[in-house]
Amino acid sequence: MATSAESGSIPQMIKDQMLATIYGQCIGDALGLLTEFMTKEEAKTYYGKKPTELKYEQKVPDFHRSRWKVGDWTDDTDQMILILQSLLYKKGEIDPVDFAQRMRFWMRRGFPELGDWGGMGIGQTTKTVLSNEDFLMDPHKVAERFWEQTGRKSAANGSVMRTSILGLHQWKDIEAVKSNALSICKATHYDPRCQASVVAVTTCIALILQHTQHLLDDPSTKKLNVDKLIRQSYDMACQVLDTKEEKDELWKFMSCTDIKKLDLTERDKIGYTYKCMGSGFWALKQNDFKKAMIKLVMEAGDADTNGSVAGPMLACKLGLSSIPPHWISDLKHKDMMDSLYQRFITLQSQMERPIEERMDNEDMNIEKIRERGEAIRLETERKMDEERKRKIEEKGIHNL
Ligand SMILES: [Mg+2]
Repeated sequence: MATSAESGSIPQMIKDQMLATIYGQCIGDALGLLTEFMTKEEAKTYYGKKPTELKYEQKVPDFHRSRWKVGDWTDDTDQMILILQSLLYKKGEIDPVDFAQRMRFWMRRGFPELGDWGGMGIGQTTKTVLSNEDFLMDPHKVAERFWEQTGRKSAANGSVMRTSILGLHQWKDIEAVKSNALSICKATHYDPRCQASVVAVTTCIALILQHTQHLLDDPSTKKLNVDKLIRQSYDMACQVLDTKEEKDELWKFMSCTDIKKLDLTERDKIGYTYKCMGSGFWALKQNDFKKAMIKLVMEAGDADTNGSVAGPMLACKLGLSSIPPHWISDLKHKDMMDSLYQRFITLQSQMERPIEERMDNEDMNIEKIRERGEAIRLETERKMDEERKRKIEEKGIHNL
């Protein structure tokens, strides 16, 4: 194994790629909100026929979009953060029950520290599964039961959208990446196509990081071969599929080079997991982050979710310098993400130590998060009460 990676230190280039991946998720989500649920024609009406620039502040203030502030990301990245918080608290161990508790709390309260009153933008599969009374005890079983009840048809994009962080966690061990991704996926989405989607995306991200490590160890290593990378991720994802038809369909979406063929606004299918995963693998074949993201967003449909997969995959390949700086600096909760990233890097640098020697993140305990949330809620209500009283008093004096 590489000397640079031995004592737990992570090469700067890989740290930067990890940060690019995380920002890529936030940016794809926040930019995608601009056109989420629009038709392509509507997107053109609001943002121009072929825009060369998109900014968060251009967000159309309609009912759907005005629930989020400018530069905010949506449920996709919120749920990625829940995975990250669970990893920090569990010192790198994957625990679907801990994740389930966080999901349930977030659905009801959002992130109170960010002023949320609940988790917004949540998809139907996730909502149904999370609301089941047994979810906190056995999320895998509840998700499987729901999938059976849908006639094994439900294959929504709600798990692949949050999964990029699991391509970074334990990136050196591709089998661990696969099994981590599956465990978190199956907590809400049981369909094998959802499982194949998360394995394809996470192993692809991990393999990009591994390639960077090879380059650092041996500068004569050939440059990243994207076709080979896609083939490797496909082989990993095929392990959760049975039939040739299933594997052929997966390949059709992973190998797609024409974004139009993904038909991202197809009636009743915009939330299909392979459309979202396919957006990611389409993006991976591009070489200009800004152009690719604008092109994807202008395809509309479930644009924030497609962006939440395409953004991290392309940013991981192209690196931090490929991202327009204002898309990073204008993220509303950039500071929160930066702080989580730092803690995630510390965790990754400690993953080769026994678990008891890794850093504690006791503040990420779900009970403590709940307590902090409750305190924030009470304080907010107190302030609103005060404000109401002040206004009544002012009005009273005015009316004298
Ligand atoms: Mg969303």
